Amino acid sequence: MNARSRLRGPLVALAIACAGLCGCSLAGGRPGAGRPRLVLLVSLDGARPDGIAQADTPYIDDLAASGAAADDARTAYPFSTLPSHIAMLTGLSFRQHQVLLNGYGDPMPPMPGASVFDVCDEHGLTSLMLAGKKKLSMIRPLSEGPNTSRVVPLHGIGEALREATESGPPRFIFVHSASPDLEGHAEGWMSPGYIAAIHRCDGMVGELVAWVRESGLWDSTLIIITADHGGSGTTHNGEHPEDIQIPWIVSGGLGAGAELPERVMIYDTAPTVLRMLGLPIPEGLDGRPIEGLRTHPDVGR
Ligand SMILES: [Zn+2]
Repeated sequence: MNARSRLRGPLVALAIACAGLCGCSLAGGRPGAGRPRLVLLVSLDGARPDGIAQADTPYIDDLAASGAAADDARTAYPFSTLPSHIAMLTGLSFRQHQVLLNGYGDPMPPMPGASVFDVCDEHGLTSLMLAGKKKLSMIRPLSEGPNTSRVVPLHGIGEALREATESGPPRFIFVHSASPDLEGHAEGWMSPGYIAAIHRCDGMVGELVAWVRESGLWDSTLIIITADHGGSGTTHNGEHPEDIQIPWIVSGGLGAGAELPERVMIYDTAPTVLRMLGLPIPEGLDGRPIEGLRTHPDVGR
C-alpha cells in the first residue's frame, strides 16, 4: 500500500461520514460545490391571491413571511390550465407555444418546447412530478422510477412525496393540486367551498415543508408557490382581472429575504427555476429569470 492509497481509505470514510452528517449526497452536484440545490414548485390550480388571503393558510403565510410575495404576478392568454402550465414550465408565452388544448388526449400532442423537466433530464438532474390532473402528462409523461411522474389527489400528495423520495431527494419537484379550480367551477371562485379548498391546499403545503425540513434540505431549497390562473364567477376566461392575477411566493432557505420585482409573469417561472438549479436557460424564451434571489454560501449547483 503506497502513501496515496493509505490516505484514500480514511478520506473516503470522512467524505461518507460528512455526507451522512450533512444529510446530503455528493451525487448530482459538482465535487466541492457544496450541498446541491432543490427547487420545489407548487401550483395551486385556480388559486387567487385574494383567495389565499381570505382562507386560513398558516403554512403559506409563514412561507411568504420568511420569503417574498410578488405584488402583481400574472398568468397569460389563454388563461387555462394546460397552456398556462406549459408557459410556467417552459418559459414560453402563447406567442411561441401556440397551445389552446386544455383536455386530455391519448396520445397527447408533442410539447412545443423544452420544459424544466427536459432540461433536468439533459443535464442528469432527477425530477418528480405529482399532478392533480392527468392532462399535465403532456408536459411530463407519467412514469415510475428515478424520475417519477404521477397523477395524485390532494390528500395523497404527502404520502406520494415520501414514497417517491425514499431513495433520495430529486433536484426538481413539481406539485400540482386541482382542488381550488374544481371547487371554483362547481360553486364559484371565492365561494365557501373554494376557500375551503385553498385551506386544504395549505395543509398539503405544510406536509411539503415538513418533508423539506426533516430531509435537512431547507437551507438549500427554493420553494415557489404559484397558480396557473385565477377565476371569477364559475370560470376563468380572462375577462376579469381576477382571472389573470396569480400568487407568486418564494421561500425556503434560498428564498429568504428575496426582493421580487412588482410584476412577475407566469413564464418567468421556468427560467428562474433553471437558474436556481444552475442549469442553462434555453435561448429565445419569453420569460426571464427573476433577479433578487440569493444563494446560500454553502449551496452549490
Ligand atoms: Zn387551471
